Amino acid sequence: MSGVLVIAEARQGTLRDVSFELITAACELALAGPVTVALIGSDSTLASQLNAAGVSEVVTIASPVSEFEPHVSAAAVGALIDELSPSVVLAGHTIDSIGFGAAVAAVKNTGFAADVISVAWDDGLTVQRGVYGDKFIQSLEFPGRATVVVLVRPGAYAGAPAGGGSASIRAGVAVDTSVVKSEHLGFESPEAGDVDITKSDFLLAIGRGTGVEDQSDVEPFYELAEKIGATLVASRPLVDAGAVPAARQVGQSGKTVHPKVYLALGVSGAVQHLMGMRKADTIIAVNTDRGAPIFGIPQYGAHTDLEDVVRALADAF
Ligand SMILES: Cc1cc2nc3c(=O)[nH]c(=O)nc-3n(C[C@H](O)[C@H](O)[C@H](O)COP(=O)(O)OP(=O)(O)OC[C@H]3O[C@@H](n4cnc5c(N)ncnc54)[C@H](O)[C@@H]3O)c2cc1C
Repeated sequence: MSGVLVIAEARQGTLRDVSFELITAACELALAGPVTVALIGSDSTLASQLNAAGVSEVVTIASPVSEFEPHVSAAAVGALIDELSPSVVLAGHTIDSIGFGAAVAAVKNTGFAADVISVAWDDGLTVQRGVYGDKFIQSLEFPGRATVVVLVRPGAYAGAPAGGGSASIRAGVAVDTSVVKSEHLGFESPEAGDVDITKSDFLLAIGRGTGVEDQSDVEPFYELAEKIGATLVASRPLVDAGAVPAARQVGQSGKTVHPKVYLALGVSGAVQHLMGMRKADTIIAVNTDRGAPIFGIPQYGAHTDLEDVVRALADAF
């Protein structure tokens, strides 16, 4: 048993970011052996993008259906485990992979871990996952397991650049129609957000400490964000109150972001919020409460009234 098998994800003809994040994670397991990336049931022309640095081989698996189908993926991944005997199978902790990951692990009698935030190889696989809403980090080993299926949390790794590698690309054994057990009826798009906060390098986050209660209260913060070149995001209470659109919510039930700078005003740093932003390169927290949990992680913090910071920023820019 050796090597790492990455299960790429595509939707509506586009590779999902998590595919490239998984390649980064796989490359951190270099000691486990070569990295193979599988592209199941999608346009095989996407394969060249998965030929990233560090990838040895890209295998395309034809599917009898045009969109993701969990039983097709389960059959394809099972067959690839039989063929390649990988030490580790990496898939996203996503709505797609949750649909087949545990099933494959059960059928193939492999180790299994979901919602993993980091992987390492040192004479064997070790993974870390958050428990109790990420209050504690649990390390897991898999003694006696020749193969381990690991679902990695989206956003846990930076995405590898697409293409530019020297992998061979080949077609694997196609999955036949007999395994299909569900029918894809169509996509329903969530309410469109006005902005994709995951793509911004600089986020200005506002929490309940701002005193924001409705949309009109948020206007000055939108203006400040524009002035300083940031994108405005918020903690959940402001979204629940209808003051800020859901597309701008950061956290467990919102979006996971990893900007270069995350400036948080009046955000306490509840564990569900931290889950969405703790990977920011630089976190700056402004909070009057020295004991606020957000001060447990930021590189920079100010125990001061956010009004002072808002005024100073507005004057400076
Ligand atoms: C299942 C579940 C999922 C959740 N998902 C999310 C999620 O995705 N995202 C999320 O954000 N939350 C989420 N929550 C809610 C989360 O638990 C917290 O309630 C929420 O994050 C708190 O938001 P907050 O920090 O804005 O407010 P608070 O916790 O009320 O914090 C306000 C902070 O502002 C400070 N403050 C007050 N006045 C000032 C001032 N003048 N100047 C400076 N600082 C000041 C206070 O000291 C305080 O620390 C979830 C909860 C559950 C149960």
